[in-house]
Amino acid sequence: MNYIRENLSVVHERIKVACLKAGRNPQEVSLLLATKTVSSENIKIALQSGETLIGENKVQELKEKYNALKDTPHQAHFIGHLQTNKIKDVLKYADCIQSVDRTELVEKLDARLQREGRKADIMIQVNSSFEESKFGIAPQEAVSFAKIVSQYDTLQVKGLMTIGLFSAEQEQVRKCFQLLKRLQQQIIGLNLPHFELNHLSMGMSHDLETAIEEGATMVRVGTAIFGSRIYPDSYYWNEQATNK
Ligand SMILES: *Cc1c(COP(=O)(O)O)cnc(C)c1O
Repeated sequence: MNYIRENLSVVHERIKVACLKAGRNPQEVSLLLATKTVSSENIKIALQSGETLIGENKVQELKEKYNALKDTPHQAHFIGHLQTNKIKDVLKYADCIQSVDRTELVEKLDARLQREGRKADIMIQVNSSFEESKFGIAPQEAVSFAKIVSQYDTLQVKGLMTIGLFSAEQEQVRKCFQLLKRLQQQIIGLNLPHFELNHLSMGMSHDLETAIEEGATMVRVGTAIFGSRIYPDSYYWNEQATNK
């Protein structure tokens, strides 16, 4: 069996075991393939074995793979840092933008969507680990940011997204996921227009079990499926690196 299919079945089993342990229905948790640096051929192997969701971190990569993948049914989410000069393309190629994290971006997304006369699905990214190197709105600003987002009815808010702390100590990582869940409950309580905060996008290769225990509805997994990447993650997650 191809290693990707084999890894996929291992990951699905991990999701199932974590759900059962947490008393949840495994169908409540979807798997998004984090496909940065992965070739279209390898992504296709995963899609053809039943996967439906991919996530890209760079608009350029999303665009490059679009043609190769457009005849294989799937949805593409954008999960990387979004620069405002890439808005037009990201709206063209992504079905959902999970990394909305600042007012300037909200304004510019809205302006573009108004021009196109349409709406877009988004999630709000929260920096739940308080690390400076990570993108996302600061947790203490998340509720007021959600209120700002609610003023723009071109943006259909589907959930919250976060990258947990990088730590071998799952109890520290867990706090990030608990924080995201609390913020979700708080924001749901506000009953904001065009907010349907059903999703908590959290958990990756090394911490998906913890995320599922804390309520994840979407885990984003790359390494455990496609193998390790040559670029360090800071290349994708760090402001200095992405501005180069
Ligand atoms: C790369 C990436 C993932 C997946 O990380 P792995 O450790 O490879 O599973 C998830 N979310 C985001 C935002 C990513 O950039």
